[in-house]
Amino acid sequence: MKTYDLIIVGAGPGGSMAAKTAAENGLKTIFFERGRKPGEKNSSGCGLGPRMWKQFPSMMKDLTPEKCPSLRAGAAARNYFINEEGIVVGYVMTRPTESVSYEPAKSWITMNCYRSEFDPWIAEFATYAGAELKNSTLIVNLLKKDGNICGVVDEHGEKYKAPIVIGADGAVSMVAKQSGLRTRWAQDQITVTPQYDFFAPPNKIDDIMGDEALAVWWSAIFPASYQVFFHDGFHQGLGNWLNKWDKNPLFYLNRVINLKYYQRLLKILDAKPRELQSHLLPWLKYPYNTHTDGVILIGDAGGFPCPLEAEGIYPAMVTGKIAAEVAAEAITSEDISKSALSKFDEMWKKTSVGEEFEAGEELYNIWKALPFSPKETMSWFVPMFMEVMGGIYDWSQPHAKRVRQIAAHVKSYMPKALPFIMKYVFPLVAKIFENDLDKIMDPQKLMSVIPKIMDLLPKKKKQRREKL
Ligand SMILES: Cc1cc2nc3c(=O)[nH]c(=O)nc-3n(C[C@H](O)[C@H](O)[C@H](O)COP(=O)(O)OP(=O)(O)OC[C@H]3O[C@@H](n4cnc5c(N)ncnc54)[C@H](O)[C@@H]3O)c2cc1C
Repeated sequence: MKTYDLIIVGAGPGGSMAAKTAAENGLKTIFFERGRKPGEKNSSGCGLGPRMWKQFPSMMKDLTPEKCPSLRAGAAARNYFINEEGIVVGYVMTRPTESVSYEPAKSWITMNCYRSEFDPWIAEFATYAGAELKNSTLIVNLLKKDGNICGVVDEHGEKYKAPIVIGADGAVSMVAKQSGLRTRWAQDQITVTPQYDFFAPPNKIDDIMGDEALAVWWSAIFPASYQVFFHDGFHQGLGNWLNKWDKNPLFYLNRVINLKYYQRLLKILDAKPRELQSHLLPWLKYPYNTHTDGVILIGDAGGFPCPLEAEGIYPAMVTGKIAAEVAAEAITSEDISKSALSKFDEMWKKTSVGEEFEAGEELYNIWKALPFSPKETMSWFVPMFMEVMGGIYDWSQPHAKRVRQIAAHVKSYMPKALPFIMKYVFPLVAKIFENDLDKIMDPQKLMSVIPKIMDLLPKKKKQRREKL
């Protein structure tokens, strides 16, 4: 039986980052991948966010088109709005705004590439640092002695020993299950996400999409669908929690593909379907049960994707790095107990990932109620939003009359919109500004401000202009 300081199950972004960090900390490390190489499954998951460049600059500057030919950076995101008749009734283009504070976030919103290139690229950092990568090896169980976890067993019965095992084995984590940390996700903690991968000639993508990195198709007839552009193709997918589907998810994805607008886009992009995939993705209000004696769960295995949009690669890398650092410390101090490994929770909570989860419940709730509730919410949200956004550019009436028409029409949506705002928007805003709420709501401050506002108001009623 081979013996190591640290065993990592899974060579996705989380596992590779953990393996790299562990090897750099001097741990004899092995990480296992069931695929023939990391990223073999080529799951989407490759809109990379700028926080990765901020936090891991020397590593990320190595991610070049030579290493990842599918790489494509984009500064714009398009939001399409689709009504109940399947018509694109408007779109809003967004770019990094003036308040964005650092590079490269000022220059692009996501850097996209295929996982079949990204995962091997990141795994190479780990092997370069000295970690051993064992591909084509499915780990099927945890090795236990006197009830204590002390390694793993592969599908051929081969045993590998180590005092600590990191579960980096993704959404359906064997390590989580066998360690007793979790039997399975609840239905409202995991999403199923089918997606098409289309090929399109790079020059067409550049000419037609310009510097668009991605698009979100917000709709009343399917859960929000994402589109991510790579150098020579794009993904179109959508997801929802397991308890939210009333039909096969493909039925809804095909609704996107069959939109007239979408068919036109496929035609002008000269796009051809290349692959149909389906993946599971944990989507939680807050990660829990992340560690026990001799075991730490990271990335998807620990439920770390962002509670709003499920960005998962950055959290996997952050938690992978922290888990390896905590493991190194635990091994040095010869204390691998649950209580020693609780440092993992302490540390990730202090990171940008932890900060994201501070409003986890509110972010999760609003996402669930809005883009993931096409019938209940998007059916009134899309026309209401477009009434406000688009109504004014209309020559059917004098503009002042149009504004009154729009206001009256928007008012008709209030019985639905107001309860939504009270239930989902207010709690989110209150959570985000909770540290400042006391200041804003302080009655003494309010009393001191009100007279100043009153002073600004005109003392006399203005005379209406005489009619000529
Ligand atoms: C459709 C889709 C789109 C997404 N889009 C984005 C995006 O644009 N940006 C983003 O940041 N995130 C995105 N995500 C989320 C992101 O893909 C994940 O959060 C991220 O991959 C998590 O990394 P990980 O290392 O924890 O797990 P994974 O990437 O799932 O890696 C786990 C690895 O472990 C291996 N493995 C599993 N079990 C075993 C076993 N028993 N033995 C050996 N090996 C095993 C697997 O083969 C895999 O290689 C998306 C997810 C999905 C499903």
